[in-house]
Amino acid sequence: MPAPRDYVVVNGLRYVQPYFHTFDIRVSDKRVGSSVLAALDEQVRFQGRVGDGREHWARELASGRVRLASDVRRRLPTGGEIPEEWFAAPVSLDAPVPPDSFFRVVRHVHEPCVGCEVPRVLLEDSKLVFVDKPAGVPTLAGCGPKLQGENNATRLLNRTRAENATGADDGELFAVNRIDKPVSGVWILAKGSRLAARCRAALAKPGHETKTYLARVRGAVVGPIRIDAPLSVGADGRATTSGGADAKPAVTLVHPVARYPPPWDDCTLVACRLERSGRFHQIRCHLASVGVPIANDATYNESGAEESTNDSSTRAIDDGGGTEVYADDDDGTLLASITEPGVFAATCLECGWAAAAAAGDRRAFDPRLRAACAAEWCDRVGRDGGTEWERAQDVKRRGNVKRRRRERDGDGSGDDGSGDDGFGDGSAAERPRAGTSIDLHSAEYRIWFDGAEYKVRSEALPAFAIRALGADATIDGVVDALPWAGEGLEAAGRARRK
Ligand SMILES: [Zn+2]
Repeated sequence: MPAPRDYVVVNGLRYVQPYFHTFDIRVSDKRVGSSVLAALDEQVRFQGRVGDGREHWARELASGRVRLASDVRRRLPTGGEIPEEWFAAPVSLDAPVPPDSFFRVVRHVHEPCVGCEVPRVLLEDSKLVFVDKPAGVPTLAGCGPKLQGENNATRLLNRTRAENATGADDGELFAVNRIDKPVSGVWILAKGSRLAARCRAALAKPGHETKTYLARVRGAVVGPIRIDAPLSVGADGRATTSGGADAKPAVTLVHPVARYPPPWDDCTLVACRLERSGRFHQIRCHLASVGVPIANDATYNESGAEESTNDSSTRAIDDGGGTEVYADDDDGTLLASITEPGVFAATCLECGWAAAAAAGDRRAFDPRLRAACAAEWCDRVGRDGGTEWERAQDVKRRGNVKRRRRERDGDGSGDDGSGDDGFGDGSAAERPRAGTSIDLHSAEYRIWFDGAEYKVRSEALPAFAIRALGADATIDGVVDALPWAGEGLEAAGRARRK
């Protein structure tokens, strides 16, 4: 079956219709002899898994989506495509994996939704492409082995360019670096994987790049700060300055740009400069470590995340925006696309979960009821067929959409305890949100690559900077006024090499 990988945009979020993806994965030597279940659980990760691993993989085995071939490299010493007939269903999940084995997995993929904005090209030459990345879109796929995911900025750019192909040298773009999903601004790609690797290596040398970011921080910054604190990644997945053997050197320069007017007057707009390629979450962690965290970065600013206020304008910028995942529109666009025949898989709990969520079934958001609810919806859509079933559900769905809208708008009448389904969980606050942003923006990249200096600024100031500076402020005005604006990269590089 051709894999439909179509985008659907609803309520400012970009969804990819579920699709099938086939790939081979070699069982690593250390897992030979362990059970099929253990090898699958450890080597083939599935996103958004509902239910435990055994249940999931038993279903995949039963539907023929996981097969095993052994003695592969001996029979195919020079590599190449493994013949289809070598693969057979494993005897059971508990059978030991023989040596030299490959799994062939047909994966039914559900990608997380992201913000719907598309990256814009700022500068392009024969080697590099600089783009302005919107907040709420990851730079790269986070979807596991050998999967070219669709819902990331790299893929979006490549798809857009392929559709508008001008001929010429429009090869595939590869990310040179990455910026965090909730962060907006300048980001670099290269034309081809080799060029991307070469550019990465060049930029790792001292003096070959400087990056300037703008951030809205909570607290007063009255003068320049130099934060020199090695960073490592803690067990909780966050960067930390608490040291450790694997901590790597990191320096962030912070310069105050402006104080905010009321009602944000406990905040400062700052510029941050990285002299070398940044460490994981460097700016976010460094700012928090000196007591001025990014105001709406819940990962490093717990008080900011908990902050609640009656001022809706403050709340709107503090919660980073975002839209409830699977909040459908009045036309039921999302539900119709998810339950389309060829897309909806009646054996896939994620399909069931997504359909339930898009139809406004509140049990989908209750962790205790989630798996049972998903199974029920799988059965319902699988039995009745997508389109007919969809029409039959129309009345119910419209009622649910309206109820959720009332809840979202703060009119509690749809959820006053007398609701028809009687579930207290799954309130709007507990439902996942997507497309969120934090007030951190990559304003300028200057790099030295292949004998040329590139200086690229984002297209415009982000909204959070305009709030501090007024509508007349420009990105050039702000960046040119920074104390380090006049420094030349080449000179910096030479000075450091002495
Ligand atoms: Zn599915």
